[in-house]
Amino acid sequence: MMAGILVVVEHRKGELRPVGRELVGLATALKTASGEPVQVAVIAADPARYAEPLKLAGVDEIVTVQSADDAFDPEVYEASVRALIGARQPSLVLLPHSVDTLGYAAPLVVRDGHGFTTDVFAVERDGEGWVATRSGYGQKVNVEMEFPGHATVVLTVRPGSFKPVEAAGAPAISSLPAPHVTPRSQHLAFEEPAGGDDVDIPGADFILSIGRGVGEEDNVEQFKALSDSVGATLGCSRPIADSGWLPKSRQVGQSGKTAANCKLYVAMGISGSVQHMAGMKHVDTIVAVNTDPEASIFTIAKYGIVGDIFDIGKELQNHF
Ligand code: FAD
Repeated sequence: MMAGILVVVEHRKGELRPVGRELVGLATALKTASGEPVQVAVIAADPARYAEPLKLAGVDEIVTVQSADDAFDPEVYEASVRALIGARQPSLVLLPHSVDTLGYAAPLVVRDGHGFTTDVFAVERDGEGWVATRSGYGQKVNVEMEFPGHATVVLTVRPGSFKPVEAAGAPAISSLPAPHVTPRSQHLAFEEPAGGDDVDIPGADFILSIGRGVGEEDNVEQFKALSDSVGATLGCSRPIADSGWLPKSRQVGQSGKTAANCKLYVAMGISGSVQHMAGMKHVDTIVAVNTDPEASIFTIAKYGIVGDIFDIGKELQNHF
């Protein structure tokens, strides 16, 4: 039987992306269930500099692959992950569900015949195999996927779904020779999308989000002021972004951003649709304010206030 859980981390502009530690969190939990070792791979021009912060508890080996350019290239990643799978023969490969893996995961698994599914938010061991859970039908149902007949299963995992590992460990460090690839594209520069603002929803640790309960555009300003006063980053549900009341970059949820590093999420006038909760239900402390005691948001809130967001907003503002 093949053995091993291989995590491939990502980096951008010289920084490891936080999702890497989340995948290590998932991999180390699965190691307990399966007894399979955890390998973490980093593909970079100078992989040693990324290897240091990846010396995490539960990781057995860090495998580095040197690439000519530090920026992401789909062909380099496809060839490198192919080489990693060939060398370590993992039963499970965990990749972030990201714009990068959109570029290389599908060609890799199709060419090499691996089991595959995307945007996974739960993984379990079932006997000798793996079972991955993803959503179907616009997040209305959860679908459990099995991969009979595949020795290696590749999954792209939704950011923000697993707790990142923080504790340090002492894994072995090894390297694989860079596969020979002639890239067909060249990375020129990063360009920020137009029309957004500088807000960093995935990086924020305290988010105050507003939903359709704000009623009208003129009311948004007072919640902006409130979030500034309490030191929160202002987020929103999709109707607020769709109406143009706040930029799309502040939308939390399935088709928006994931509150990946959030510790405190205050949802004001948000009903708690599955699509909104997809971006924040993992947060440890969720406070919900809603006039409707039956609102779904209360099913995941640690603290629920049945009340009017304008009254509660004023109360809060008075304390700052
Ligand atoms: P509503 O559902 O209308 O809820 C408003 C809430 O405010 C109600 O619960 C009401 O009781 C409460 N309220 C009203 N007045 C007050 C008051 N004065 N004080 C307190 N409470 C009050 N949505 C997202 O948010 N993010 C996404 O990324 C996203 N992606 C989607 C992707 C797809 C493919 C689809 C189909 C939908 C998506 N949606 C997304 C939309 C989602 O289905 C919901 O329509 C949306 O989340 C509802 O936003 P809301 O909670 O602000 O509004």
